[in-house]
Amino acid sequence: MRRLFSLPALFAFALSVSTAGCATPPDDGDDHGDMTESDVSAAFEQSFREKDDAKADSTGCSGVRVPDRGPFAKRVALTFDDGPNPATTPEIVATLRRHQVPATFFINGSRVKGDTEKAILADIVSDANFKLANHTWSHVNMAEQSSAEVARQIDKTSDVLTAAGAPLEFFRFPFGSSTCATAEAARSRGLKITGWHVDSADWCFAAGGGVCKPATFRYVPDAYRSDMKGYVMSQVHATEGGILLFHDIHRSTADALEGIIEALKADGYTFTNVSDLNTFPKLNGSSAPPAPVAFVGDACKASTDCAFDVWGVTGTCHTAGFCSIPCEGFCPDKAGKAPTFCVQDPTQSTPAGVCVPMAVSENGHCADLPGTLDASADRYVGTSNAPAKTAEVCMPVAP
Ligand SMILES: [Zn+2]
Repeated sequence: MRRLFSLPALFAFALSVSTAGCATPPDDGDDHGDMTESDVSAAFEQSFREKDDAKADSTGCSGVRVPDRGPFAKRVALTFDDGPNPATTPEIVATLRRHQVPATFFINGSRVKGDTEKAILADIVSDANFKLANHTWSHVNMAEQSSAEVARQIDKTSDVLTAAGAPLEFFRFPFGSSTCATAEAARSRGLKITGWHVDSADWCFAAGGGVCKPATFRYVPDAYRSDMKGYVMSQVHATEGGILLFHDIHRSTADALEGIIEALKADGYTFTNVSDLNTFPKLNGSSAPPAPVAFVGDACKASTDCAFDVWGVTGTCHTAGFCSIPCEGFCPDKAGKAPTFCVQDPTQSTPAGVCVPMAVSENGHCADLPGTLDASADRYVGTSNAPAKTAEVCMPVAP
């Protein structure tokens, strides 16, 4: 997915203008000066939808999605982007330390302008609880850059990290904006592309002086418009953990962090880092793109052949010899695969919806699935609101 516009950089720029007298964050706002507020909102919403695209079961070339979908067992990994900012990053580091909370800082190399910033990096590197990672040189939209500029954006910041004594491990695309070519540029350097599960929307709260306005970002419910902690907790509850995205350049984020950590602890969440193999095995398992996996309707011999996750469910091998998941009304589709349909499972004597492939050329009109027969079947609606429908599908042959 490509995104056309940049978001936090604009607000970093706005913040640096509006907080005269403070040590203002360095910015790269010159690259984004022609963005309108609606541009910003549109870009952020695209990123938000991509993160929640439940039909995708692999990360592909996305810079937003994380290959691990949980369950996270109430473990969270905090991440902070766009720094270092001498006005706020040390305070965030101190808050994290006070609570013994690990974190990863995705830095922009161009912000490391002098000894002050270098000292912040050295302090982060010296703490085993913290990681430094690469967020490009100047927070450009990588999807719009030449391959030479993509390489320069990554490598110059890797040089800064190496000089600070940090290993080169994790990389995050600004705005999560990636193409297959830019993803390959990061992976070919051994970097793990790190998206997020929960966006704190702290950029939106920061832009409005602590209030996330509907015109800026419509996905924050009104009850949370001036309650970033409440919004973050509602999002964390929805995923029961995962990787959380913040920006350490914002005063409002530094102010809210302690309350968010305390709320997480009070709700029984524990803290880990993006490098945690138990919580994020796929993120940490390989620098290569995920191998293609089976999907609903593909032939199988055992459920190990159907190790895909979709809609929060892991596929299993139906006795009729195709990968499936249970369903009520709807089934997921995937590009390049036979479309799917929810039917009453004829091998079950009780109401039980099961996703089956439609009879199409991809499966030789069911000839590739010898445990099934090409048949017309009614949709299994169950408790869903799906309308009644009939389709030509590959029906399991009842035993
Ligand atoms: Zn960023």
